Amino acid sequence: MPGLARRVTTLKASSTVAFAGRAKELARQGIDVIAMTAGEPDFLPPEHVLEAAREGIRLGLTKYTATEGTGELREAVAAKFKRENGLTYAPDQVLVSNGGKQTLYNAFMSVLEPGDEVVMVAPYWVSYPAQVELAGGVPVVVTASAADGFVPDIADVRKAITPRTKVLLINSPSNPTGAVYPPALVGEFAELAEEHDLWLFSDDLYEHLIYDGEFSTAAALVPQRTLIVHGASKGYAMTGWRIGFGVGPKPLIAAMTRLQGQSTSGANSLAQHATVAALNEVEKTAAFQAMTRAAYRERRDVLVAGLNRLGLPTPKPAGAFYVMTDTTSIDPDEERAAIRLLDEARVAVVPGTDFLAPGKVRLSYATSLDDVKEALRRIEALIG
Ligand code: PLP
Repeated sequence: MPGLARRVTTLKASSTVAFAGRAKELARQGIDVIAMTAGEPDFLPPEHVLEAAREGIRLGLTKYTATEGTGELREAVAAKFKRENGLTYAPDQVLVSNGGKQTLYNAFMSVLEPGDEVVMVAPYWVSYPAQVELAGGVPVVVTASAADGFVPDIADVRKAITPRTKVLLINSPSNPTGAVYPPALVGEFAELAEEHDLWLFSDDLYEHLIYDGEFSTAAALVPQRTLIVHGASKGYAMTGWRIGFGVGPKPLIAAMTRLQGQSTSGANSLAQHATVAALNEVEKTAAFQAMTRAAYRERRDVLVAGLNRLGLPTPKPAGAFYVMTDTTSIDPDEERAAIRLLDEARVAVVPGTDFLAPGKVRLSYATSLDDVKEALRRIEALIG
């Protein structure tokens, strides 16, 4: 067989997918496994979104849309940022993509020259360094500690900046830690970006999943250099619908649109139509988000208290639906700890290895409260 390109032979498969697959295989064999690997809400989208998708079929919305997304959806996205964040964007400052993941990939591909550096905070979402490298860039990692609730120290971020730095990347609330950055810290990131003339990519996908504190985005401070990465996946429980949006300065959005036009074109027409309903039917969506937030909050509280009671140190995150737990008392190596949790306790988690979180595993509480409680009982039985 002819050879493959180095960019893919050096590309790692996601460990999240690998561990989720292992758990699914056990489940297929009839073994009762509690899956805490998921990076997606366990809720269906609200009924008005499902109905909009059905309506889209009835209306025959089966053709290509514009590469940048339908005018209707881009207007709805701009209206969301006006209403919820007080930010003013024109529809041509919005690009609709195949999930937030494609938004980010378009963005890295649009700004990075070979060797350009992107400063990111670990533990991080695994696709960040992979996408930066695919675009020819170099990930530069700042580590946030569990003792600080995985909120980085701005002095460390400053130290990581070099003449090659092109982008600062913020993800708050964070996957995998659930950390929410205080507004003052977001302001310090914005100042650094301004001082060093950097792009600021703000991955705000988990905006609506905050239980303590408040959401803030750098876009409110330095809009001329900030790209907001957002989408329908997390806050609207629409992961499989694959709708993301990038919102930012016109020249960047135009570049990302040209790239998408030659790679994948517009996102799914029916999913775009349904996302308009998710954004525009404000009261129904707000009620759905309040309901899911309350459920996640209760699960978080039970899970964090339970893990700490079992002697597995776990900071209480303010957002998203993940916790990072220190499993060194189960095994100093997080992969072996994750395997013991799966094989002996029948609880599937993701080892921190690929998040750059040694000695820790990520548990997702996007699963029922009963499952959270049962997982705690099983982990207790494992560690005696
Ligand atoms: N950013 C973060 C931090 C995520 O956790 C995810 C999904 O897990 C994404 C972006 C991409 O989301 P999407 O499913 O919309 O592509």
